[in-house]
Amino acid sequence: MENYGFNTIAVHGGNPGDKGTGSIGLPIHLTNAYRFENTEHAKNLFELSKFGNIYSRIMNPTSDAFEQRMAQLEGGVGALAFSSGHAAIFNTIVNLANAGDEIVSSLYIYGGAINLLGTTLSRLGITVKFVNPDDLGAWEEAITDKTRGFFVETIGNPNANVADLQPIADLAHKHGIPFVVDSTFTTPYLCRPIEFGADFVVHSATKYISSYGGVMGGAVIDSGRFEFKDNPRFPLYNQPDPSYHGIIYADLGAPAFILRMRTLLMRDIGACLSPFNSHQLCTGLETLPLRMDRHSQNALKVAEYLENHSAVSAVNYPGLKSSRYNGLVNKYFKDGMASSVFTFVLAGGKQAGADFIDSLKLIVHCANVGDAKSLVSHPATTTHSQLTPERLLKAGITDGTVRLSIGIEDVNDIIADLEQAIK
Ligand SMILES: *Cc1c(COP(=O)(O)O)cnc(C)c1O
Repeated sequence: MENYGFNTIAVHGGNPGDKGTGSIGLPIHLTNAYRFENTEHAKNLFELSKFGNIYSRIMNPTSDAFEQRMAQLEGGVGALAFSSGHAAIFNTIVNLANAGDEIVSSLYIYGGAINLLGTTLSRLGITVKFVNPDDLGAWEEAITDKTRGFFVETIGNPNANVADLQPIADLAHKHGIPFVVDSTFTTPYLCRPIEFGADFVVHSATKYISSYGGVMGGAVIDSGRFEFKDNPRFPLYNQPDPSYHGIIYADLGAPAFILRMRTLLMRDIGACLSPFNSHQLCTGLETLPLRMDRHSQNALKVAEYLENHSAVSAVNYPGLKSSRYNGLVNKYFKDGMASSVFTFVLAGGKQAGADFIDSLKLIVHCANVGDAKSLVSHPATTTHSQLTPERLLKAGITDGTVRLSIGIEDVNDIIADLEQAIK
């Protein structure tokens, strides 16, 4: 599909068609296993000397279509689908780091990811150091000879800070460290992090990619550019793996990362995506470009409306000309579009925030973002409630912070709902 444009790949990428039936729709292969031609064929598959389907924990033709479409849209050499965004992040980190190793992460990330990286990984012996992503010096200071990766979100959660990808990538690469970018809020339509130095891109497909908030899913895309061979930080890739015939993953070349993730981690940890969900996510991708245009246009209008409202003390939307991140939006995102998740602060503080949310009629109060429907939440009491007060403050979340995820409805209806709720 390389010669086609983004919109075409979003519709057709990865769909092999179905020769048997002529089906135009992507078939949903609800099967756990695949018939071997004979014992020789089975042996070759297990030895990886021949590629083919073995068992749906490790590969499935419907999930393969989703994976190929994601890899093509991001410009990577391969992708792997996961049962959720968190599964994608967890597997990415443990595909780089062992107990005793370290990761450096932006501190402005999804609240759940702060818990995953800061608490659960630390119990497994992987230390994550959190830094202010805007402070390049802090990234550099955090590097030790144990550092195995940098982690950042394109648009941070929840205050919509934009990461300056290129300098962070350059710094990582100067030290032989891979750069992992969570591009959930931008999707490949608004930003292709591989073009700006990302080695591995992760997504919660649960959000914009799923389109209507119906299924969970995640994806990891491998740029194929990170050089593991003889990199002293990665004995993981340079020493024989006894659990797979003594394979040395670095010797596999470009797709070493994604192949190791599939053959080793998907085999052992098993956070695979259901083929039904893969089908839903492929359908979501078909309209992703149309929806992201509308999401971004609506969000900008809503942010401009809020910015001019006397009851609002701050609006953190990077698409606003007044945002300190607007320059980075223009540098990294398509046509200056800034997606549709952001926060604002009501001057009345916590009680005003709660009254406001309880007065909304159209905008749905829930713990999700990136749905076709407009959504609202109060991070301090929901998504980020498991964080300590210090971590909350560090993440830039106050009692009066309200998070919006602007949908694709008529923008006048969204603004009218905000207006009556603020009143
Ligand atoms: C939701 C989200 C995740 C986690 O994804 P799930 O699909 O909910 O597991 C990770 N990163 C970001 C930026 C998210 O918004």
